[in-house]
Amino acid sequence: SDHDLVYPTCPEEMDWSQHYPAFTATIPAGVPKDDPITTTDWDDHYLHPRITQDVEVADIGCGFGGLLFALAPRMPQTLLLGLEIRTAVTEFVQEKAKALRIQQDIASREGKEQDLVPGQYQNLSCLRANTMKFLPNLFQRGQLSKIFLCFPDPHFKARKHKARIVSAALNSEYAFVLRPGGKVYTITDVEDLHVWMVDRFEGHAGFERVGEEEVEGDVCVGVMRGETEEGKKVERNGGRKFVAVFRRVADPDWV
Ligand code: SAM
Repeated sequence: SDHDLVYPTCPEEMDWSQHYPAFTATIPAGVPKDDPITTTDWDDHYLHPRITQDVEVADIGCGFGGLLFALAPRMPQTLLLGLEIRTAVTEFVQEKAKALRIQQDIASREGKEQDLVPGQYQNLSCLRANTMKFLPNLFQRGQLSKIFLCFPDPHFKARKHKARIVSAALNSEYAFVLRPGGKVYTITDVEDLHVWMVDRFEGHAGFERVGEEEVEGDVCVGVMRGETEEGKKVERNGGRKFVAVFRRVADPDWV
């Protein structure tokens, strides 16, 4: 049950500084402490410490975070967030991120340049959430540039299809939080689910399928195939992996 899950009522209410402490904003240097306008502004607008930029990449059903830990050093200036419904798995990702940050900090202090990765894992975190609910509570319209749906649970039986994380209704939520030009990445070893996802995204006015050449040239696709826990398992078992990527097209009335 996810009755104990807590969601912000709107994205502004979310305290991201706990997730990305290295990206926490401070009151801009040079602003006099007694400047009435600026300090009022700051207090009124921010309920909690602010981060310097928004989360841009979401890994939905991130599991143990293989994709996140591989992508973070490849896009060190971008904030990545895994969303995972299982408590223990979420905590594993959070703890692993903290441990890697500490390791990087020690390497940095000891001057071991060769052990440092770009971004030093400060740009990834994980949040426990049921992504079938409240996604727009976490992200503003057009906030995300990439959403990953890697090896989602297939829910084989027809009566369970409503539990699939790709559907007309959920695709509208993905469309809402993605910016025009942003992409949804999907991968699965279940051909039937692949066909289902392609049908649902191609049938949605907010998305167009990305061509094969662009897909194959995208580093994120390689990471998705090779670095996710499920991708590795499928590899070991000699299974097939079906990939499809969809671009968010701008609504005619997008402002
Ligand atoms: N993406 C990872 C990978 O490729 O290795 C994990 C794939 S695993 C088969 C599916 C994951 O989605 C599980 O960790 C499961 O707990 C999570 N999950 C399923 N439904 C979810 C939901 N509604 N919200 C968030 N996570 C969910």
